[in-house]
Amino acid sequence: MRLLILAQPLPPRALEHLGAFVDERKVATPYGQAGPFALRQPPGGRGIWILPYFGSPDHTDPRATLWAAKELGVQRILAWDSVVGLSHDLVRGDIVFPSDYIDWTKHQPATYFAQTGAGYLPQTPPFCTDITAAVTRHLPGARPVIYLGDEGPRRETAAEARMYQLWGAHVRGLNLVPETYLAKELELCFAAIGVVTMLGADRAESAAGGEVRESDRAILAALPHIFADLPAPPACGCDHLQAGPRQRGVLPDDWRLWG
Ligand SMILES: [Zn+2]
Repeated sequence: MRLLILAQPLPPRALEHLGAFVDERKVATPYGQAGPFALRQPPGGRGIWILPYFGSPDHTDPRATLWAAKELGVQRILAWDSVVGLSHDLVRGDIVFPSDYIDWTKHQPATYFAQTGAGYLPQTPPFCTDITAAVTRHLPGARPVIYLGDEGPRRETAAEARMYQLWGAHVRGLNLVPETYLAKELELCFAAIGVVTMLGADRAESAAGGEVRESDRAILAALPHIFADLPAPPACGCDHLQAGPRQRGVLPDDWRLWG
């Protein structure tokens, strides 16, 4: 199964071309309830779960989201985020995909699952290579960016925007971190697309001219092709990340008892 995490608000009918709505679920997890997840079924194709997801301090615990995805039998997750363009050559409506991330979410409560050996999981590559490759094939204009994963809902200050750029970040967003590394802990594929909807606070905001809507349409048109273009079985290795360090003898026999 596939899951689209949707952190970009869209008109209600925008997702109809992904298939007919066939099911809706809320999932109870040890970290609270997640969902509702909506299942859409394209004719003759495989179903896609869709989870509306907006950055705010009271949204679902990210651990519940990933846990629920695993419960629903999801293996591949594509997140669609709206991001702040920090780099001065990014403009509103630019389509980007994160090639790496900086985790600046350190004020949250624990953002790891117990007993998954999180400390041993490599973060390279930071995002699923299968999904990212499909994104670049079907959205060839999308730019690779370093994603600064921050906590909302406050906007960054101009000083912070300048600091993030010095760190090497190109965009700032609230919805991909810690989700991407929680997905790794559960051996799920996770990759993302972003649309620049705001400029960093050290720049004057440009007038809206429909650029974001145009990019949303391009992504919506590409989504079915991206999902249809994922290799089966996965070639990325995300589904057996935990086997790596154990096979290499890095982990002790009782490694699942380690936090
Ligand atoms: Zn993968």
